[in-house]
Amino acid sequence: MAETKAWRVVLDHVEKRLRDGSLGPGDRLPGERELATQLGVGRSSVREALRVLEVMGVLHTATGSGPRSGAVITTSASSGVAQVLGLQAAAQAFEFGDVVDARLVLEAAVVEALAATTPELSAAREVLDAMDDDALTSDEFLSLDARFHGLLAEATGNAVFATVMTGLRAAIETYVQSRAHAIGDWSAARDRLQHEHRGVLEAVRAGDADDARQRIHDHIGGYYAATRIRDEQQRQ
Ligand SMILES: [Zn+2]
Repeated sequence: MAETKAWRVVLDHVEKRLRDGSLGPGDRLPGERELATQLGVGRSSVREALRVLEVMGVLHTATGSGPRSGAVITTSASSGVAQVLGLQAAAQAFEFGDVVDARLVLEAAVVEALAATTPELSAAREVLDAMDDDALTSDEFLSLDARFHGLLAEATGNAVFATVMTGLRAAIETYVQSRAHAIGDWSAARDRLQHEHRGVLEAVRAGDADDARQRIHDHIGGYYAATRIRDEQQRQ
């Protein structure tokens, strides 16, 4: 199973158990390793999913090891949080244009904050380097792309930026992946996206907030515009 999809398996599992009542407030999930084995996914996927669920207020992850190390459920199936937990459904239901508008506002603020402090950004650079691998499918590439944008938000040190980006991840992945088919020359598009990513990092490193904002705007808006035009042409 592709690691990029695997974290959604964990979300689905927790969601189903909340709905059927086998998990409720105060219950403890198995530890990371056991959950990974049970669901046949990697531990990094389990970690990623637990992080999203914690952000959504569904559970609390305790640090440490041993029998008391598993995440504790903090919501019941009847609570509002659990009802909106249909993450995949919610991600599909969002208007793509609304997600893009939210990204344009949020990520402009993210790069502006980064340009003011010019942090190291080594984790984001590592993800970009991994994305240069020609063997990646478009889905895998675009999942890492969403991860890259999430790491930028985290690097601001603003926990709200990071939390909102984590919460948006499923929605972002859904629209970028579902539109990749509208791109004629994927290899050229990929090179362009990588060039844009590095341009954003360069502007941030130079401390140029205006340039960074313009570049992230063109990057997010450009992909959306290009894939929407092709979509409309194909429908006609
Ligand atoms: Zn990107």
